Amino acid sequence: MAAQSENAAMGTDIYGKNPTDVVGEHFCRSVWGWRPLWDMCEDLFPELAARIEVGYAHHNDGYGLNAVDSEALADALNEAVYGGRVAEWVAGRDETLANLPKEDCDICGSTGIRSDDHAIQSGQHDKALTPEQAVVLGREFGWCNGCDGRGWMAPFESWYSVTVDDAIEFAGFLRVCGGFDNRSAKEHKKGRWGRKRRPSLRKYWRYCKVWNALTGPWALLAYFTIYLYLELFWLN
Ligand SMILES: [Zn+2]
Repeated sequence: MAAQSENAAMGTDIYGKNPTDVVGEHFCRSVWGWRPLWDMCEDLFPELAARIEVGYAHHNDGYGLNAVDSEALADALNEAVYGGRVAEWVAGRDETLANLPKEDCDICGSTGIRSDDHAIQSGQHDKALTPEQAVVLGREFGWCNGCDGRGWMAPFESWYSVTVDDAIEFAGFLRVCGGFDNRSAKEHKKGRWGRKRRPSLRKYWRYCKVWNALTGPWALLAYFTIYLYLELFWLN
């Protein structure tokens, strides 16, 4: 999905186009949270997920769903949450991740003990382990900050995580967002991508009010009073 590749570096912020509740204004996830959440939507509701609109007239990084499809996806998600399909999907994913092979730690050569110059300076090579670590690792000294002394690292995929609660929160956003895309509410208001705003007369009306306040009868009375005051007490 474009949604994933475009936001791979910075996480995802999506904004309701026409929110009817504060929950529908903004939804965000780090890159580690958004990817599996959208994977879930694609797996469970491929038809709805495929309706995501990619590409806009002036920017090709935009993506989103219209109001009708957002609500449909909210319904589908809620149904799947309460029917247990989401929990099943999450459990299946967690199991798959748990069975992935561990990755080697390049920093310590998978020994769990860093022995390069930098590590010796910072004392990692003979750092005392906690009793818990010692039980698991079978030694009392020597550590690596790359792998926490284990000699292996969790597979990259397991950095991404998603829970049933994420799905519930996302469904809550979808229900009241009135359609969404990744442009901020501020940008929507500016009308750069949405409906163009006609130049407003309100601004000029504000100037008029200031002008009226400065030249109206009360203002003139005030000027006259000041003039009298100066005339009577100061200037003579
Ligand atoms: Zn290591």
